[in-house]
Amino acid sequence: MATLDDQTCEAKIEGVWRQISVAEAKSAHVMAPKRCPSCHGALVLSGSYAGNGNRKFSHRRVHTGCPQDPKRYSGTPSPHPQALI
Ligand SMILES: [Zn+2]
Repeated sequence: MATLDDQTCEAKIEGVWRQISVAEAKSAHVMAPKRCPSCHGALVLSGSYAGNGNRKFSHRRVHTGCPQDPKRYSGTPSPHPQALI
């Protein structure tokens, strides 16, 4: 199963949600809104800015209905209460 460790997200680019990689998210699309491809909750890039490439996506607000966050997942998928559309 895909997890956030696989490092893709959706970014709103010119009004359209597109799937992008973490490399694109922190370079070409660093200013674009980003969301989780499963629950559509807002994502933020977390981790070091030191240039070691060790940054990853996490939900801006914790959501227990998202299988992409296995540590917090309740077992029942549900849309994020503050999903980006
Ligand atoms: Zn999610």
